[in-house]
Amino acid sequence: MKTSKHQEFLTGLIRLHILHHAVEGEFFGNWMIEELREHGYRIGPGTLYPMLHALERKGYLKSRTEGAGRRARRHYRATRQGRAALAVATGKVRELFNELVKGR
Ligand SMILES: [Zn+2]
Repeated sequence: MKTSKHQEFLTGLIRLHILHHAVEGEFFGNWMIEELREHGYRIGPGTLYPMLHALERKGYLKSRTEGAGRRARRHYRATRQGRAALAVATGKVRELFNELVKGR
């Protein structure tokens, strides 16, 4: 990924960001690339799509394809398992935030 520096820590945050938006509603890949860019993550399709596929394979996301041929677009949203994972992670993030940011 282009955010190659410190990626070990950043990829987890990116996954949570993806999951957050997948719980809020449907998104498609290019939208997510832009969204992450606005948050300062430079991630290309070669990194994002394998990540989305892995999250889908593991049962956190589901997708549907709209349109056909070159106009086909895959939309993603969270599964029940994805929503449960986000709920657990949100509690952990809150806890970490309190120590990491507020505790300073
Ligand atoms: Zn966002």
